[in-house]
Amino acid sequence: MTLKDKKYIIVGGGLAGISVAIQLIRAQAKVVLFDKNENHSSVVAAGIINPIVFRRMTKSWRVDEFLPYLKTFYAKLEEETQSNFFHELPMRRLFSSIQEREFWLQKQLKESFQPFLNFVTEDDMNYSVSKNEFGSGRVRDAHFVDVKTFISKGKEWISQRAELVHEAFEYSELTTTTYKNTVFDEIIFCEGFENNNNPWFKSLPLDQTKGQTLTIKSNELPTDVSLNRKCFVLPLEKNLFKIGSTYEWHNPTTTITDEAKTEILGHLSYLTDEKVEPVFQEAGIRPTTRDRRPLIGTHPNHRNFHIFNGLGAKGYMTCPLLSFEFVQYLAQVGSLDKEVDIKRYFTKL
Ligand SMILES: Cc1cc2nc3c(=O)[nH]c(=O)nc-3n(C[C@H](O)[C@H](O)[C@H](O)COP(=O)(O)OP(=O)(O)OC[C@H]3O[C@@H](n4cnc5c(N)ncnc54)[C@H](O)[C@@H]3O)c2cc1C
Repeated sequence: MTLKDKKYIIVGGGLAGISVAIQLIRAQAKVVLFDKNENHSSVVAAGIINPIVFRRMTKSWRVDEFLPYLKTFYAKLEEETQSNFFHELPMRRLFSSIQEREFWLQKQLKESFQPFLNFVTEDDMNYSVSKNEFGSGRVRDAHFVDVKTFISKGKEWISQRAELVHEAFEYSELTTTTYKNTVFDEIIFCEGFENNNNPWFKSLPLDQTKGQTLTIKSNELPTDVSLNRKCFVLPLEKNLFKIGSTYEWHNPTTTITDEAKTEILGHLSYLTDEKVEPVFQEAGIRPTTRDRRPLIGTHPNHRNFHIFNGLGAKGYMTCPLLSFEFVQYLAQVGSLDKEVDIKRYFTKL
């Protein structure tokens, strides 16, 4: 059976479910996507795509493969939905120590880092638009996704080509081949942090990592570049900036807190002394894993039940290619990256 002859149910219409649905529909499969329309991650995310892990001055996992693919993926969807949600993002890292600056200076000489690091210049060392104790460096090829537009346009694209059902999926109504009155071939769970309710996959080690962001008004922060030290500063419209994010492990709540606001403003004080005005605060929950690799694959006993989850803090970078590879795997023309395959946790299921 090719994908063309198959009907897939997808549960969850965040970044994961939307991307998998798009890939399946492009492969001519029939898709029914269930989403209960309460999103606490994909639409809260800053949507930043940063090729560098600053803390360790390493390249992000598989970045050389993820970046070219995601550019095509987002650009194609923009074209087909006549929208504009994928943008280049000039990014400047303010070094947090002399040691970090030394790391950067060493890495910028390596050929494999050159697509992502500009050579540090005199101007970077003396950058004075923000506080700058140790000098700064400019990242190349960083981007951001306007996440709310991506999610709404992604859903619109799917609803024009497949079935999009805005209701909560009820596990008790599922048999091996039917859900209520729908007969299906395979089912894919993309429920983000709510996987922990899923009867078949809840034993997988998925953590719920709360993150809060603060939108502020500033008259001094630069609007032409995203600054980064202790926190990110994402310029929005006019003099509004999104600042974030907190990492609150094992925390599945979506309430905003004063502690988080204080923490974010404390981190921002490494970049500016300005008394900024908080305007809006948001909280979401990342589906994370200890080994920082997604949870993708097939249930060992229910061979038509699959999961695509655990995108963590970098979903907007990894999801486009991982969803493509997942659909190749479903079509039996490709295999899963061993690092994401849930086989690594089969003893838990
Ligand atoms: C504060 C914050 C900042 C972030 N910043 C970035 C960033 O800058 N860059 C980046 O790449 N990533 C970022 N992320 C991470 C990114 O948001 C996640 O990797 C990604 O959104 C996870 O997508 P998902 O589809 O797996 O989960 P979700 O977005 O949570 O989607 C799951 C969907 O499934 C639905 N669902 C669940 N159960 C059911 C059910 N039973 N029936 C029907 N529907 C169901 C939910 O309603 C939801 O819509 C950030 C996250 C947070 C919280």
